[in-house]
Amino acid sequence: CGIVGYIGERAALPFLVDGLKRLEYRGYDSAGIATVGGSGLELVRAKGKLHNLEQKLEGAYRTTATIGIGHTRWATHGKPEEHNAHPHTDASGRLAVIQNGIIENYSELRTALKERGCLFKSETDTEVIPHLIACHLDGRTLLEAVLAAVRELKGAYAIAVLSADFPDEMIVVRQQAPLVVGYGDGENYFASDVPAIVSHTTRVLTLQDGECARITRTGVEVYDFTGHKLRRSPRTLNWNP
Ligand code: GLU
Repeated sequence: CGIVGYIGERAALPFLVDGLKRLEYRGYDSAGIATVGGSGLELVRAKGKLHNLEQKLEGAYRTTATIGIGHTRWATHGKPEEHNAHPHTDASGRLAVIQNGIIENYSELRTALKERGCLFKSETDTEVIPHLIACHLDGRTLLEAVLAAVRELKGAYAIAVLSADFPDEMIVVRQQAPLVVGYGDGENYFASDVPAIVSHTTRVLTLQDGECARITRTGVEVYDFTGHKLRRSPRTLNWNP
């Protein structure tokens, strides 16, 4: 339901929690965060309100990681339980995915992935995505693997991908669900809606359907689903909070 992401020089966690709070009006039943830092990919998820996630973050997990993604879930496939909350990971636990919307062909994909030996930890439609990306990673860049996976998906979705093996980039994909990229100074952001990022920047790029962005600390590259690079630049929002 709500998606946020941060990459920069500062700690990602405060941005992620604040961004999810600003998207609370959309409604949700659980929430989660993934960051990549010194100890690899770390995942914290909780059922219910953001308050529950914040308590877990305080108790178990203080991070100075400078890259991370966050999600508030409104369940469509699989009950609102912690194990169904996003992010979802691949078998290695080094790749994390959050998603809004619905993957219509998840059932066929899940069956095929199970035949290849993938073990599923949730009942969501989302979990096929990290497994698919992992299958395509073999020697490829993260962008290439994400696009190869996306070309197999049917449905209406926005996706964000984070990997401990690619700690200096995040990939986001838009297909009939909103996604905006915010341009900061030495840091960049993304979110499913502008309220999550306008307190940090008003330079914003609204991705179009069939577009994907590779976001680093210093730049944003936009591609179509075949991997062809597109020319896109941000506009400046006229926003009075
Ligand atoms: N279909 C996904 C799920 O049920 C994402 C739902 C959402 O948009 O939050 O987990």
